[in-house]
Amino acid sequence: MAIQELIPISCIQQLGFCEYSVFLKYIQVVETEPTEQMKIGKKVHEKLYEEFLVKAKPSTVKQMIKKSRKSKMLSRELYVKSANFGIHGSIDEIRFSPNNFLIIDDKPGTRIFQSNINQVYAYCLTFNDYISSLKIKDEIRPIIAALRERDTQKIIWKSPFNEDAQKSIVNEINRMHSMIEGKVPFLPTNNQNKCHNCSIRDVCDKFS
Ligand code: SF4
Repeated sequence: MAIQELIPISCIQQLGFCEYSVFLKYIQVVETEPTEQMKIGKKVHEKLYEEFLVKAKPSTVKQMIKKSRKSKMLSRELYVKSANFGIHGSIDEIRFSPNNFLIIDDKPGTRIFQSNINQVYAYCLTFNDYISSLKIKDEIRPIIAALRERDTQKIIWKSPFNEDAQKSIVNEINRMHSMIEGKVPFLPTNNQNKCHNCSIRDVCDKFS
């Protein structure tokens, strides 16, 4: 699959919020102004990245994987893509340690939504696919998925990216591809609260 056909991993999260919003944003490409929450989120991400850059040294993922067998390392905003699963995106933070790889996605608030879990699982899947392609000898460390509250930087949910997690996210990604290919419809949410909090409600023909 060519890079321009890869789907942003953020769509997986949005699918859980409302399938029709993915249709409007990704297929119809509707233009909307960013919400206050989006602007705040962007600023916080930029600040964390600037702080990270003060101490960061350039390194490849392969080097980080090898070095982290002995000492802990950290990356921010690592771009990953998977032609196998047709998705791409930037991972907020990865903690490489001798025991595991912790994949972290920052979220506003402390509520745990399945859509956020799906998003971080999609990052785990893509990271796993990428490091498998590097064919690093004897690399068997597990991947752990985590959600972190954006403003306090506290981990609010953590779980191993095991076989069950992998199967469930692959199903979800395949379902999304089926929708994008027009085989399955994008259904609008029937939750009015979601519609009232939706950033694209002004351009949505299903909003009432
Ligand atoms: S307004 Fe409602 S139905 Fe329309 S995209 Fe937003 S959440 Fe979905």
